[in-house]
Amino acid sequence: MTATARTSTRRDPGALRAIAASGARELGPDAAADDVVAWAVEAFGEGLAVASSMQDAVLPHLVSQHLPGVDVLFGDTGYHFAETYDTRDRVAAELDVTVVDVRPRLSVTQQDIRVGPRLFERDPAECCRLRKVEPLRAALADYECWATGVRRADGPTRATTPVVTFDETFGLVKVNPLATWSGDDVTTYAFEHGVPVNLLLADGYPSIGCAPCTQRVEAGADERSGRWVGFGKTECGLHPA
Ligand code: SF4
Repeated sequence: MTATARTSTRRDPGALRAIAASGARELGPDAAADDVVAWAVEAFGEGLAVASSMQDAVLPHLVSQHLPGVDVLFGDTGYHFAETYDTRDRVAAELDVTVVDVRPRLSVTQQDIRVGPRLFERDPAECCRLRKVEPLRAALADYECWATGVRRADGPTRATTPVVTFDETFGLVKVNPLATWSGDDVTTYAFEHGVPVNLLLADGYPSIGCAPCTQRVEAGADERSGRWVGFGKTECGLHPA
């Protein structure tokens, strides 16, 4: 199922910050994924959204078990691999979720005209800001909490990822239910529950972003080492270290 984003009234940052702090105390630092999701659904109901890069549908599936029809925000930058769009379409068709395509104000063509072509080669930070961060900021204004698939095992910049926190960048609560999971945990869940996974995962891409900024990596290498190769950039800005 696909739909446009919902509208709601978000509580003020002070109230949401207090809820996040209470949740962090209640859950503890290494809470189980199901417990984190159950807490977030209890605290926020339909004010909870899931963000997905469509690398796999593990988090959307897990949250949908607690909140059927949950909104799943997909940052459609216009630069994704065909396999990523295929995964999005399978998630929309096969899971009890509502996929929301979060798109930039300008199409790729309009951006090329405005700032010149291939901005991702000249200034990937600005490209990510225009095509990922600002569109998501606008979309998240409709929610009080977002759930992400960030894991501590993703790499050094994510090693201290909390299971629940207040997101100062976007002004709402952020939960990371899979924070303690290994890559094998994700694979096992996907297999056991038959959830869609991006075909590129089996083709040398352990971390999948936009096509121009994602390369294959050698077996055993840092999973995110194929992202923004040559730029010293490790994050798109959605999950500041
Ligand atoms: Fe642009 Fe690359 Fe960032 Fe995608 S990942 S928004 S193409 S810089």
